[in-house]
Amino acid sequence: MEEKHPFVRDIFPDLVAELAALLEDEGEHGLAVHVRDIRLVAECGCGDDFCQSLRTGHHLPERPFGEGHRCVELSPSTGMLVLDVVDERIAYIEVLGRPPMPRRGAER
Ligand SMILES: [Zn+2]
Repeated sequence: MEEKHPFVRDIFPDLVAELAALLEDEGEHGLAVHVRDIRLVAECGCGDDFCQSLRTGHHLPERPFGEGHRCVELSPSTGMLVLDVVDERIAYIEVLGRPPMPRRGAER
């Protein structure tokens, strides 16, 4: 199947680097590798100022995720980063209360 969604690392390289480091800190080595290969399916779009959450893994179910789901809460220096992981794939990245993320390849 052709994959049209961009890699998250191509759009938000700083975020992916931070997530990889934080996942290593949590001992989540598998996810720290996987996070470099996830693709951006959609941005949250809820319109809340504090929310820059990203949907990844479009082969995965949307909320509620159901079986095989776990949350991985990270400890960034600012705000909150929480991963929704389904069967060890990252389905959603909750990015809350963080400064606007630098975006590569777009002006917004
Ligand atoms: Zn949101």
